[in-house]
Amino acid sequence: MRKNLVIAIDGYSSCGKSTLAKALAKKLGFIYIDSGAMYRAVTLYFIRNKVDVNDPEAVIDALQHIELNFHSRDYQSHITLNGEEVSEEIRQMPVSEYVSEVSANKQVRREMVKQQQRMGKSKNIVMDGRDIGTTVFKDAQVKFFMTADPKIRAERRFREMQSKGDTTTSLEDVFENLAHRDYADTTRKESPLTRAEDAIILDNTNLTESEQLAFASEMVHQHLP
Ligand code: C5P
Repeated sequence: MRKNLVIAIDGYSSCGKSTLAKALAKKLGFIYIDSGAMYRAVTLYFIRNKVDVNDPEAVIDALQHIELNFHSRDYQSHITLNGEEVSEEIRQMPVSEYVSEVSANKQVRREMVKQQQRMGKSKNIVMDGRDIGTTVFKDAQVKFFMTADPKIRAERRFREMQSKGDTTTSLEDVFENLAHRDYADTTRKESPLTRAEDAIILDNTNLTESEQLAFASEMVHQHLP
């Protein structure tokens, strides 16, 4: 049985996993790790260096040249790719459009899972993603599986992108990207997105952020030793 505490949060794209994960980490004094940011940073590297995701040798070689690091400030996670801060760039559409293809790659997943397991070896963490409760930390003490109405998810994400100054992406583009990623993530061969049997379902279609935090905190309280 593991000594450190792990809270795993999985679910569909843009259903507020990172919002909940950050809030829980802050409340409990845990470390927040955004596993999606890692797949996004790898994708950015592949785009910039024209790495062919279908060429196993090129993928293995590229992975050896990628160093990812998290820097946490105020529970906002910042990621660096070979020393360069890429937190903003990895959220933009070119990466969002390609990330599910890159993250379906077996070698990419193997390397990311290894790094994630190392990060969660000795510290109390909240990690969000698609396979955290099913693959990365099967033995996590608390697991959530988050979902929400796809239209609401697209609207939330669209508003967030607009508030960051993105005026070129339409609501329709966002909706299609989420649908595409949900489909790719749930149907891929390597650790597809699925609910772990022991994961608590959290549908936040009609919940405010504080309501979902209250629900999740209560569940954590019930499950943690
Ligand atoms: O969490 P976020 O939406 O930023 O993740 C981006 C993409 O990274 C997902 O659509 C999925 O393809 C991939 N991902 C994954 N496994 C994880 C986290 C993210 O495959 N644990």
